[in-house]
Order: sequence, then C-alpha cells, then structure tokens
Amino acid sequence: MSSSRLPQALEKLVSLLARLPGIGERSATRLAFYMLSQPESYARELSGALVELVERVHFCVDCHMVAEGERCTICEDPSRERTTLCVVEGIADLLAFERSGAYHGLYHVLHGVLAPLKGVGPDELRLANLRGRIEALGTSEVIVATSSDVEGEATALYLLRHLAPTGVRVSRIATGVPMGGELEYVDATTLSRALRGRTPLE
Ligand SMILES: [Zn+2]
Repeated sequence: MSSSRLPQALEKLVSLLARLPGIGERSATRLAFYMLSQPESYARELSGALVELVERVHFCVDCHMVAEGERCTICEDPSRERTTLCVVEGIADLLAFERSGAYHGLYHVLHGVLAPLKGVGPDELRLANLRGRIEALGTSEVIVATSSDVEGEATALYLLRHLAPTGVRVSRIATGVPMGGELEYVDATTLSRALRGRTPLE
C-alpha cells in the first residue's frame, strides 16, 4: 500500500473513508488531505456530526425511514393520505418521490430487494411489520415502486403473494423508469407519470 509512509492517524482515516460507496483509496487519500488542510474546527464539526448521527438518528418503527424520534416526520404528518402505502427499496427512492411532489400517501422502506444469489431473502428486508401496518391503517392500496430489474420484479411478485391475505389492492408503478439506486436521478415529471400510470399487479 502506497500510504504506508503516512502517519497512522491519517492511514486510519483513509481506510475508513475508502469504505464509503464510490470512494476508492485514491479519493479517500485526497479527502483526508483536504480535511487536513482545513481549519481544525472543520474536522471537529465533522466528527461531531457523525457522532450525533449515530446517537440521534434511527429508523422509523413504522415505515423504516430515518427519524429522530420513534416515528419519522412523514408518518407523523397528519396531512398525509393514510390509506395509500408506497413500497420502495431505499430511502433515496422515497426522497425522489418526495421531491416530485406527486405522492401524498405513506411509505414503507424495504432497505433492499430480494436477491437469493446474494443471500438476501424476505427475512433480510424490513417486511415484518408490513401486513400489520396495512391492517392497522386500513390501507386501500399498496403501490410497489421497486426497480424494474429482475430483483425488483421478483420482490414485487413476492409482495403480491405476501399481501394477499390482507385483501389490499396491490399496484405497480409504470415500468421503463430506471429505479433502485438510480431513482434519485429521475426527474419529477417522469416519476409522477410512472406513478399515474401504475397498473394492478397480478
Ligand atoms: Zn415513518
């Protein structure tokens, strides 16, 4: 490793930064040197923010979005339509829907999709409370907004079977929209069109 000539504290930071998605060792080294070039207050503020993050931010007990309290601001918002539930893979997808302004119901964040080859089964997804929520809320429609790739489709079909006992109507947003990790880059118009063009899942 080329960074072996570096002080240990710097090397440690580099190896931690290199674990971030999309950051290799080179970028990590560049970031670490950038931090070193900044006033000391920046590093203290950054480390403080990280500590605050893990101490104060948790996942909503209902929808699994990030929350400071037990429930997130969306679940707590009395103006949201409580009879529609949109199931998304990740928080980035939820945020994309929020930015589009096209959706006013509640969410359920799975934190993944079914991927048997990667060892991700139903138990690895945040599914345990979904049926209970649907019953408690009296949900009339569940909109499945997982990606249109193989794993997203498999997850949608699993959900259809999983939710059958509740009798809830299950629909799927229009396909052809890049979803999953890429949903956050989809513009608001495309996203609202996908939402409007949703079809019953059979
Ligand atoms: Zn919530």
